[in-house]
Amino acid sequence: MNRPISIFLSIFLFSIFQPAQNQSFDRWFEDGVMRIDLMFSGTSEETTYSFSVLRKEKHYSGSRSILIDPFDYGDHKFLVKDAASGALIFSHTYCTLFREWQTTLEADTLKRAFSHVLRFPWPKNSVIVEIHDRDKNGDFNLTWIGKIDPATIYADPGNQLVFETVDLEINGPPEERIDILFLAEGYTADEMDKFVGDAERSAGFIFSEEPFKSNRSAFNMRAVKSVSKDSGTDIPGQGIWKNTVMNSTFYTFGIERYMTTLDYQSVCDVASNAHYDQVYILVNTAKYGGGGIYNLYSISAADNAASRAVVIHEFGHAFGGLADEYFNSAVAYNDFFNLEVEPWNPNLTTLVDFDSKWKGMVAKDTPIPTPSTDQYQETVGVFEGGGYVSKDVFRPMIDCRMHTNDAGFCPVCSKAIQQMIRRHAGD
Ligand SMILES: [Zn+2]
Repeated sequence: MNRPISIFLSIFLFSIFQPAQNQSFDRWFEDGVMRIDLMFSGTSEETTYSFSVLRKEKHYSGSRSILIDPFDYGDHKFLVKDAASGALIFSHTYCTLFREWQTTLEADTLKRAFSHVLRFPWPKNSVIVEIHDRDKNGDFNLTWIGKIDPATIYADPGNQLVFETVDLEINGPPEERIDILFLAEGYTADEMDKFVGDAERSAGFIFSEEPFKSNRSAFNMRAVKSVSKDSGTDIPGQGIWKNTVMNSTFYTFGIERYMTTLDYQSVCDVASNAHYDQVYILVNTAKYGGGGIYNLYSISAADNAASRAVVIHEFGHAFGGLADEYFNSAVAYNDFFNLEVEPWNPNLTTLVDFDSKWKGMVAKDTPIPTPSTDQYQETVGVFEGGGYVSKDVFRPMIDCRMHTNDAGFCPVCSKAIQQMIRRHAGD
């Protein structure tokens, strides 16, 4: 009796994962990656992109059948269009540290520049590349446009950060798998055996938890033995400064445990040594901290006692586009959410358009909003508090991996991760 419904559902799911335009990778693209390095600068109110350099990298790792990003996640997206016909041939959604910085108090008074990188398969013909940034109303607006003719432009094939790579676990060809690439940060040449052990342990953390555990064969894992001059990382609040290959640091935006790197071009230089869809930067420190930015990178301490929880949590941000569900922290963001629109993250709602979120997973007798009482401890509902604010932003469950880090992923987060796995390694 269920058969007609399941056929309908699979047709529907199949159709939303189809590229909007041409399905043939070979018609538009050839081997290699076109990498556009830009700088973006600005304040809380303005953003300016400036072209820096074009590079040609070897390893394209994304899907060859799904070239248009089916999710409208992220604070930015870029589109690649065939210049002659205007056909959309590639798109990608993502977040940046610059955008987070724009919500800090510092951005009200200081103009600052960050490095930025776009990557897509090497086009056969002239292309138009457009960057669209999401505004406070949740809409994407065109902020940069460039025309690139691969036949005439100079592309730098060089990479000054060439390092040995290691295959940790290969389950299939890169274009049919999600390729996680672990990068060594703050490891000296003598510490590379430790790094490989740390990367194997961290990969094990991710795949010890559902829904990653039962989808392990959809992933490949590799590691880059990227050597740093010094061991460890910057801890500015303690006056500790290290010379490391990707310039990571604690105290990002003044928050001690927020360890990131602003040097995204070096991250991409190191990562260009191997295939990757997701970059995981492992930092050779025992100090608690890390970060995860959607489709940019994950980063965390290799040796902290809480590393398992942090690794899975940060990968939830970077891979799944999941928001933090906690709200009782010292995170110093100003007006992070516009309460008049739905946040793009799949695991938060302002109830402005709850139908577009997990309403279908909430039982009819569960009140909306849902009281945070023992009765609803294990219930999917709508609980007030999430995304760093205690009022008017709601999360799906009382506890979740994206909330306290003690629990597993809630059903809403788990579903979002499974959809993302299908997007990259779909049937
Ligand atoms: Zn959740």
